Order: sequence, then structure tokens, then C-alpha cells
Amino acid sequence: MNIKFWGVRGSIPTSGPAYVRYGGNTPCIEVHTDDDTLFILDAGTGIRGLGDHLTVPGTPLSASILITHPHWDHIQGFPFFKPAFVRGNSITIVGPQRADIPLERIIADQMTNIYFPVQLHELHATIAFHSVLEEEFMIGSARIRTMYVNHPGFTVGYRIESAGKSLVYISDNESFDAATMKNATNFEQSVLDRFRLQNGDGNQRIYDFARDADVLIHDATYTPEEYADKKTWGHSHYEFTLHVARQANVKRLYLFHHEPSRTDDAVDEIVRHCTEIIARRHDTFVCDAAREGAELEW
Ligand SMILES: [Zn+2]
Repeated sequence: MNIKFWGVRGSIPTSGPAYVRYGGNTPCIEVHTDDDTLFILDAGTGIRGLGDHLTVPGTPLSASILITHPHWDHIQGFPFFKPAFVRGNSITIVGPQRADIPLERIIADQMTNIYFPVQLHELHATIAFHSVLEEEFMIGSARIRTMYVNHPGFTVGYRIESAGKSLVYISDNESFDAATMKNATNFEQSVLDRFRLQNGDGNQRIYDFARDADVLIHDATYTPEEYADKKTWGHSHYEFTLHVARQANVKRLYLFHHEPSRTDDAVDEIVRHCTEIIARRHDTFVCDAAREGAELEW
């Protein structure tokens, strides 16, 4: 399996000399399984560069785009994904199901002529939609599992397993704390209830979902100090992210969804601090910050 990061920034794209090393595009990750099934995790602004990279004239493309949730930073790159404009290409968009609005309309609505000059139905690729709850299904030889995570709106994490290798992607997720979440009005109650009804630590379902993964990519938007003022916004501070990796016994952790104003030097500092914490606790997993352009093969 191999992955390449095309967008690692949370919430809104950022640019400028202080952000060039980690990059400013919003979430998008290219994944190839060993039998070369192509997955694209989220369609943030990073998908534009990926689309250009994937476009080879005369060679039809088949890809599944796994959307965690339709907040802007996770879908806003799709209208700029060049393969969607090419006849003969086949794209399946997978995303969480809402009771009130079909997945296809969620994607189409950001391309109505109020917001964009080309409408979804004008794209030439064959585009299919597959909305999911918490479930397990196959795409090619890969087994995909989904699970609701703790983020406003219906938001899922993805676990991809293929040829004995595993990748878990949880882009946006907040530590579940029953007292804090009791007053949250922006979360889906049915999702909160799943955490609330867990015996002991409400986050156990997240640990179990990521259990023994080769690679975990997880939200680390905030520092612990910043998080104090951002509770119920649906994001983690990096110490909780380390906790998830430890509890789940993963082999490698990528801190992901960097806060938009986090400079390269500040991300370096967070990685340094995380490395110290890992050494002090004798944890065995490797930790790094996701960086645009970085690749991993295992
Ligand atoms: Zn996000």
C-alpha cells in the first residue's frame, strides 16, 4: 500500500512563505493498494494537484473518492478535479448518509451556478454515489470500514485493509467527554449517543476502530492550550491524538488537519514535543506531521 499527501491543512487553505514546507491545501490523500486500486481520501483543495497528476491522455481512470464529511475543506476541491471532466473516466464518491439530503445533492449544490460555472451533470466522467452509515464493504480487493467520529454533522472515519495492510483515516475528530458534549448543540445526537453508551472511556470505539493499524492519520488541529477555547468545535489537540495512537497500538501516526495559521516552524515544534512525549512514555509508534508531497510505502 502507498499513500501520498496532497492536502494536510484544516478548515481553509492557507498560503505564504511561512507555510511552504507543510503546505496549505485542505485534505486530500492519494492511496494505492498493492493491486493498484486507487482511493482518494477527501476532496479538499489538494485534489486539484492530484487530478492534474492523474491525468494521462488516452488512459481511462477509475477511482473512489472517500469523503469523511461535506464541510467545505473536504469537498471544495472537487469542482477542480480534472479527471471528472474527462469522458471514459469512472469515479465513485463515497460519503456519509444524511436523512435529509442525498450525497449527490450535497456535491451538486456546491456546483450550482450561484457558486460555480460548471454544474455536476455537465461533467463528462461517469460519476456514481455511494452513501454509507457505519458499515463494511469491499472496493476491489480492499475491505473498507466506516465509523462515525465525534465531529459536528455526520462524519465518518475510514479503515482500508488490503493484502494484510491497514490504513485508518480520521480527519476531523474530537475527544469525547460526556460532560462537555452534553451541552453541544451542533452535534448529531444519534452519533453522540454511540459514544455516550460506551462503557468506560467513550473514545474506546475510536481506539477499537484504529486497533493495530499500520498507519493512522488523525486530526491534530490544536495545541492543548488552544483546545481549551475550542471545545465542541470537533477537533483534537495533539496530546489526545497521541493518546489515540497509543490506545490503538498503531505503528505509525500522522498528525493531520493542521490549524490554518500554524506555521511550518510551529508544526516542527509540535512534532518535537510529541517525539519527547513518546520517548518519555516508551511508546513504540512513529509520529510525524503530515506534509504535502510526503509519501509512504509499506
Ligand atoms: Zn476539516
